[in-house]
Amino acid sequence: MTGVRIEGVTAGYCASPVLADLSLDVATGEVVAVLGASGSGKTTLLRVLAGFLRPSAGEVRFGDRIVSGPSEWVPPERRRVGIVPQEGALFPHLDVAGNVAFGLPRNSDDRVEQMLALVGMSGMGERRVQELSGGQQQRVALARALAPGPDVLLLDEPFSALDASLRVRLRGEVREVLAATGTTTVLVTHDQEEALSFADRVAVVRDGQVVQVASPDDLYENPVDLDTARFVGEVVELEATVIADGMATCSLGDVHVPGAPAEGTRGVIVLRPEQLAVVDERGVGAAPAHGALGTVRSCSYHGHDSLLLVELTGGDEVPVRVPGGRGARPGDRVRVVVGGTGLLFPRS
Ligand code: ADP
Repeated sequence: MTGVRIEGVTAGYCASPVLADLSLDVATGEVVAVLGASGSGKTTLLRVLAGFLRPSAGEVRFGDRIVSGPSEWVPPERRRVGIVPQEGALFPHLDVAGNVAFGLPRNSDDRVEQMLALVGMSGMGERRVQELSGGQQQRVALARALAPGPDVLLLDEPFSALDASLRVRLRGEVREVLAATGTTTVLVTHDQEEALSFADRVAVVRDGQVVQVASPDDLYENPVDLDTARFVGEVVELEATVIADGMATCSLGDVHVPGAPAEGTRGVIVLRPEQLAVVDERGVGAAPAHGALGTVRSCSYHGHDSLLLVELTGGDEVPVRVPGGRGARPGDRVRVVVGGTGLLFPRS
């Protein structure tokens, strides 16, 4: 078993580098998601790990092996990496078993069947690739990538072409397979939900730099800056001023901000929509001075919850998630109350 260490890697395609002095560690058996917007350098990092792109500086180690460095270079076929691309990229002229057996020695039928069982496709080795659904194709691609027992598995947005419910299910299944095999895995994705639900840790990449590495819940609750907060989930942003004792005042009233910024500090307070709740105008269940009054402007129903847009008396509009379809209708007067603490960032 092998971890990955990326140290000070600079890489790109022409004069200006895409990755600039990037460092990231992935522990043995860990699943790390590299999360970034389009163009942030995720694919470039994956290509560096796979050995398709040679960095101009820095080092990549798989365990004790330097696979890329100023004077070392291990070509892709000798890196022992498995890759699952966005859309399976299976060989159309081979059947399922032929695809899984591709990187294996002859007479590996047992291994092929073992891998098919692992991805829930026992007995389907003779199927033609064209007969498979998108989800089955991705399962075969995973079986093919895992069959040779790679040191490191690279997943390049492998679920993005699937429809929503299949994506969630397959993601869970793949996660179980990776846990069972203990495979060190790097997933690149632009989808924050995918990163948060799939990975042990998430590395947020922006402009070729890692801006934060954290567990999913820590990243969501303690993003390093305003852009990261926005990128990893929905945010409520309100102008705020620190008053005293770790409290900031904003159009939703007074909210705790950890880290005790100096009194008088101005900035943006960030809350998540699920921290807000509506109670009726008189504030049933809330202290009268708590929260802020507003008018529901719209309500969109999402099954498990509904998203209200509430215009506060001061003019700010805030999104509030309420369970199911209950709650409020456009035009209702409500009081919006805040649970938990907020984060204060400088306006960016
Ligand atoms: P991401 O995967 O996060 O969308 P990429 O790593 O693909 O980002 O791209 C990062 C930057 O590198 C982009 O500005 C992109 O235009 C550029 N780039 C990607 N591939 C190439 C290439 N083959 N040649 C030149 N520039 C490229």
